[in-house]
Amino acid sequence: MKQIDTIIIGAGPCGLSAAIELHKQDMEYLVIEKGNVVEAIYNYPTHQTFFSSSEKLSIGDFPFITEQHKPHRNQALVYYREAVKHFNLKINTYEEVTSGRKSGEQFILETSKGQYACNHLIVATGYYGQPNHLDVPGEGKEKVFHYFKEAHPFFNQKVLVIGGKNSSVDAAIELEKAGADVTVVYRRGAYSKSVKPWILPQFDSLVKNDKIDMHFSTEVVDIKDQSVVLEKNGETFELPNDFVFAMIGYHPDYRFLSSFGVELNENEYGTAPNHDPNTMETNIPNLYIAGVIAAGNDANTIFIENGRFHGKIIADEIAKQHSER
Ligand code: FAD
Ligand code: NAP
Repeated sequence: MKQIDTIIIGAGPCGLSAAIELHKQDMEYLVIEKGNVVEAIYNYPTHQTFFSSSEKLSIGDFPFITEQHKPHRNQALVYYREAVKHFNLKINTYEEVTSGRKSGEQFILETSKGQYACNHLIVATGYYGQPNHLDVPGEGKEKVFHYFKEAHPFFNQKVLVIGGKNSSVDAAIELEKAGADVTVVYRRGAYSKSVKPWILPQFDSLVKNDKIDMHFSTEVVDIKDQSVVLEKNGETFELPNDFVFAMIGYHPDYRFLSSFGVELNENEYGTAPNHDPNTMETNIPNLYIAGVIAAGNDANTIFIENGRFHGKIIADEIAKQHSER
């Protein structure tokens, strides 16, 4: 079994930020990542533009400079690869942490490639790997997607987009641009305040010009092979349909956290891991969370913009413990 002082699970921007901060303080660490670095960003829509400026996506004071204010996905992939090279970060890629447990003061991790023991564990596994589900008949059909990559395959197709925040609005705009026949259903009665203010007018204009068929206060009740059944204000109606994008958000892997005894708090959005925001330590001593995982089901409070600072908080905490030994 390999013994390492601190293990970080997840090489997203926030896990990488934690690694840089430990590196800067000369502390022993290893990042274990199931895919390659910034796997979630790699899986974003191909032509995604960030809502943040490049400066606000930068980690470890390593400059992220782009000509335009808001970078594209590809530029961020280059930036985070360069950050890994610049700091020579220790990362085991393509190694999945499959389970973990506490043994005395240590954490024992089983991975797809081996076993590790560590004194401090930082879980930075995000939420993007676990899409939310509708729990309606037909959701498992091949025509239903929980991720949007590109619009071209949907040219001249009848597409239903479910959800009312940034992923659904972005996907609907791109699909319409590529010639899809787009219907959007949102369960609330009006646009969400979370939709970025520079995107909403573009979307609303497509709705007002009958380019996108928008239904508020509407839920999906059945997904059939060639149609969808919707319910609006207690009445059901059926629309012809070829493809469905259920852009209804994501959630952390709670099963993994719970296996260590990390408690979950209920909040208005659902649940979130119990932790002290001043240290990012959970109710399990020496088990920290970094990045968007800390916000639980609420994808609109913690982003890279603020989650990137969790690493420094945690590294300082671990350094303090070392100095007290
Ligand atoms: P992630 O980037 O999700 O990283 C988690 C990592 O953990 C992944 O690489 C994953 O492969 C790995 N992992 C998971 N489970 C395991 C396991 N068991 N073993 C090993 N590895 C594991 N935020 C902003 O601040 N600005 C933006 O403009 C912005 N735009 C966004 C656009 C889109 C389309 C989306 C979906 C999100 C956007 N966000 C933005 C939110 C934020 O980017 C992401 O959620 C960000 O990736 C979170 O970083 P993270 O490090 O916390 O988690
Ligand atoms: P999200 O913000 O969690 O929104 C999910 C949407 O799905 C919400 O409108 C929610 O409704 C709805 N929903 C959830 N469960 C549902 C259910 N069972 N049935 C019907 N509807 C349901 O997820 P997201 O839009 O994918 O965004 C995730 C993160 O990515 C956010 O941080 C976002 O800012 C970011 N993002 C950024 C960009 C960008 O930078 N341009 C683009 C896309 C996404 P309610 O509104 O009622 O909760």
